[in-house]
Amino acid sequence: MPTPVIEICSLCKTYRIGELTVEALRSVDLTIQSSEFLAIMGASGSGKSTLMNVLGCLDRPTSGGYNLDGNDVGTLDRDALARIRGRKIGFVFQGFNLLSRMTALENVELPMLYDEVPSAVRKERSLEALRTVGLEDRSHHLPSQLSGGQQQRVAIARAIVNNPSLLLADEPTGNLDTATSVEVMGVVQRLNDERGITIVLVTHETDISEFARRVVTMRDGKILTDHPVDNRRIAGAGVTSR
Ligand code: ADP
Ligand code: MG
Repeated sequence: MPTPVIEICSLCKTYRIGELTVEALRSVDLTIQSSEFLAIMGASGSGKSTLMNVLGCLDRPTSGGYNLDGNDVGTLDRDALARIRGRKIGFVFQGFNLLSRMTALENVELPMLYDEVPSAVRKERSLEALRTVGLEDRSHHLPSQLSGGQQQRVAIARAIVNNPSLLLADEPTGNLDTATSVEVMGVVQRLNDERGITIVLVTHETDISEFARRVVTMRDGKILTDHPVDNRRIAGAGVTSR
């Protein structure tokens, strides 16, 4: 029996701004097993990022259940949520979110600063993560000295440096051209295939969703369809340093 990493049940999220209420998620049920690679698609405003924020323990649901790796997230306080986030979850965003005055290596070290990891161990783990994304030779470059695809790979290295079981990526190829997008998806596929990291990827591009193993589509805060990918695209092993 595969183990579910994520089990959400009747999940609702309502935003209130003054008089206005927005039902961003309306009773979503979703189970994701360990080592799955799920893509979430849907029009702008359909609730994809809201769902990712809840999955990533960045935001709490208004109602409904969320179980992450056996923890009932709804009952946890802010500190406990932050601990789970730090230990189990890596995040990748459209805009890379690297600190511009820090080198690639220093950016990758950031998630370990809170855990009092000795600096030599931090450096070693960060170099290992950069090696995983094919950028060991760029460790002393600043983000401005790297291409968009390389910056996103540094962001992926930062996301995996604490060995998370779950990687959440919200439109990670949204700022990248087609060839570079494939390169980044190759890194994500390898993390899934070789390390068994569970991946949840938001994208609005069908081409990109076909790198996943399963695709969920959303509309108006609900899940509309949920099916396996038939002709899965494989990005190939070639991690280059263009
Ligand atoms: P998507 O990522 O699919 O584009 P979102 O999850 O960002 O969609 O948004 C879903 C709905 O919730 C939209 O109508 C959006 O305007 C609203 N929404 C998202 N975040 C907030 C927020 N922090 N405050 C108020 N409304 C929000
Ligand atoms: Mg979004």
